[in-house]
This record gives sequence, C-alpha cells and structure tokens, in this order.
Amino acid sequence: MNQNRLFFLTRWRLAGLYAGVMGIILSLSGLCVYHWMAHADWQALDQELESVAGTLHDGLEPKLKQPGQIESSAEQLLPSLCLADTTCPTQPTAPTKRHILGAVQQDGYYLRFLDLSGRMIATLGQQPEEVPPPAQKEPWQTLQDSAGNRYHQVSLLLKTDRNQPWGYMQIGRSLRDFDARLSNTKIVLLVGLPVAMLLVSVASWWLAGLAMRPVYQSYHQIQQFTADAAHELRTPLAAIRATVESTLDADNLTVTDARGTLQTIDRQNHRLSQLVQDLLLLSRMDLNVLTLNRQSCCLNDIVNDLVEEFTALAIAANLQLTAHTQGYYPLYVLGDEEQLYRLIANLINNAIQYTSRGEIKVLLNRDDHHALVQVQDTGIGIAPEDQPHLFNRFYRVNRDRSRQTGGSGLGLAIASAIAQVHQGEITLKSELSKGSTFAVRLPILSGS
Ligand code: ADP
Repeated sequence: MNQNRLFFLTRWRLAGLYAGVMGIILSLSGLCVYHWMAHADWQALDQELESVAGTLHDGLEPKLKQPGQIESSAEQLLPSLCLADTTCPTQPTAPTKRHILGAVQQDGYYLRFLDLSGRMIATLGQQPEEVPPPAQKEPWQTLQDSAGNRYHQVSLLLKTDRNQPWGYMQIGRSLRDFDARLSNTKIVLLVGLPVAMLLVSVASWWLAGLAMRPVYQSYHQIQQFTADAAHELRTPLAAIRATVESTLDADNLTVTDARGTLQTIDRQNHRLSQLVQDLLLLSRMDLNVLTLNRQSCCLNDIVNDLVEEFTALAIAANLQLTAHTQGYYPLYVLGDEEQLYRLIANLINNAIQYTSRGEIKVLLNRDDHHALVQVQDTGIGIAPEDQPHLFNRFYRVNRDRSRQTGGSGLGLAIASAIAQVHQGEITLKSELSKGSTFAVRLPILSGS
C-alpha cells in the first residue's frame, strides 16, 4: 500500500487528521482536568479557612470585652499568640492537641488581630511580610509577598460581648503547597501530552493503514481485473488483425482463402462477444441490477437435461458421464432457470475439459434444507495452493492449457456469482491427479 503514492498520501492525511482530532480532544481534556483540580483544591482551601475562622470567631467573641484589647481569657484560647510590641519565639511551637488551634499552628497558617484602624494587636504563626489592611467589602484576599510567595486569607470583623465592633481577625495560609501541586500537575500534563500525542500518532498511522486495507485490496483487484480483461480482449483482437493483414497482403486471394479469413474472424468475434457478455453478466450481478426471472425450478430436470446434453461431448472425450438424481421426489429451488442451467453446465463442462480418462458423476441430493448438486470427476485435480483463487475472475491454473480449452478463467467466477444470487454457495474438494468435486448448495423451495 505504501508503494502507491495516492494511498500513501491518503494514509498520511487520514493519520494526520485522526492524530489532530485526538490531540485537540486530549489537550481539552487535560485543560479541563487541570482547571477542575485547581478549582476543587481552591474550594477545599476556602472551606478549611472558613471553618477555622468561624470556630475561632465563635470561640473568641464572648471573651472580648474592650475594643482592640485581648483579654487573658482570650489569650488562654490561643496560648502561642504573640502580642504586638513583645518578643516572641521565632520557632513555631509544637502544635497543640486542640483541633482548631492545631490547624492554625500548622506550617503555612497564620493568624493576626488588628484593631479597627488596621493596627496590629497580635499575631500567631509565620506571617507574610506585607499585609494590606482588611478590606471591608472583600473579606477574601490573595496576596503575594516580595519573594513571590502567595497567601490566601479571610478577614472577619470581631465584636465584643456587648456587640461593639472590636477589630479584625485575619486567618490565612500560604499557597506554597497549592501552587506546587498545580505546577506539578502542569508539568505532568505538559510532558504527558507530547508522549500521548506520539503514541496517538503511531496508533493513527496503524489504524489508517488498517482502515485503508480493504479499500486498497479492492483497488488492487480492480487493477488486476482491468489488466486481465485487457489481456483477454487483446488476444482475439490481435488474431483478427493478423488474419486481416495477411489476407490483404496476399496477391491472389481465392474465395477459399477469403472464406477461411472470414471464418477466423467470426471465431474470434464469437470469442470476443462471449467474453464481453460474461463481463457484462458479472458486472450486472456485482451491481445487483441483473433481472432474475425467478420461478420454481426442478433441479432433477436441470441435471438430467444437462447430462443428456453433454453426453455426446463426454463420449467424444472417452469419458462416462452419468446423472445420479436418486431422490424419491424432485427437488425444487426458487431461481432463474437459465442461470441455474448455466451454473451446472459450467461445472460439467470443466469436468469434461480437465478429465482425460475415467468418469464424471453428477449427483443430486438433499442436505437438510438445501439441495446439493455435486459434479465429481477423476481428472487432473487442483493443487491446494490454487484452490483458494479458483473462483477469482480470470484465474486459471494453467493458462496455456486453459486457453486451448477456450476458457478465459471466468467460468467459475460466474458459477459462484450465480450461486450467490440464489443464496447458495459452491465448495470444492480436489486432489492433484485424482480428481475434483464441485458442490453447489442451494436453498430448497419451501414445500418441496
Ligand atoms: P476456464 O474458462 O479457463 O475453464 P474456469 O473459471 O471455469 O475458467 O476455471 C478456472 C480454472 O480452474 C481453469 O483454468 C482450470 O485450471 C481450473 N479448473 C476448473 N474446473 C476444474 C476441474 N474440474 N478440474 C481441474 N481443474 C479445473
């Protein structure tokens, strides 16, 4: 297939298109997975901050008495709190066992308290460097320090136990883990996508080849058929031309010579028209446009008639031709009688052509819901390597011998096509130098 430029280019185009479409689908899927992951992580982060902030808010508010002042009872709730203007240990203390505080004291979290003017009152955890004052309208903020570290925080307004505004509580966390996870995912996708595309391209090339194989096979068959048909037509045409030229060159053309020439032309003409008729019949059957005159046909009559018809030919070839239509009742099939005659006649004719001595039997039997017509000969037989090709158009085992018998290699192709249009089939059993049996199975007309 790759030697043929048209098929090679088409295969490339098909593989390219397939790989392109798959590439777009894969990229879009990768992008969706990335965004979905980022969104899910972000939501989990928000929920975590929200729940910690909510719990602290609810726990602290009843303990706050004076705006901007942290009472000792509130400090007890947050033992590691570092008040502004005091020196606190820089090393993070061991996380406390209390759940909420445990979350706040984790690496990356921070907590801070500011008064209503935005002045820092106390902090907890590792603080980002630059922090803007709490925005009244935007409780959620994402910040970035000078080193490029990102933080996400939420600011809540705290009130005293007498419902007076106390100040702000900000709880946030570093986005280092979040960003690292996203950039790892990005790397996996960016590396994985080209690898996947490479595999998709190889698979596309292979699949395109697989998809085009039947098209290529039928293209090859058409090419072979055209070449064979041209070859078969050329032989009689060349014979006619040679005969005409030699006749024209003759000085004294007698009536006998002229008659001889005309007889040769007539013979070759007959051969040509037979060939063209066979080709037409095959193409009509291929296109399903052959009008079949379907009727109930008695196979016993067809077999007996044909055996009677071919007996003279068999005797001339020193062969014994016998019919064995042993059934107690006649077997009927629904079909075109003319075509069925042609099918069995082809097989009997071949058996006579390719048998030098012995006998030819035509047997008719019933096999379940099918009629079985077998043409058995004791002829030259067919080699196993030729058997699979025997029903191909223009296939001949021995071209020279076959041409002597007048065959063009279309007989069995036509027989097989006729069997097929009658929902039947032909099978072959043959052994070299021992003989062949061609068996035709046709569905019996219901009721017969
Ligand atoms: P042809 O018109 O050349 O006989 P067919 O299609 O009828 O073409 O047969 C194809 C080939 O099959 C023949 O050339 C011949 O070699 C082989 N063949 C057909 N029938 C027989 C047979 N009964 N015994 C041996 N060879 C056969």
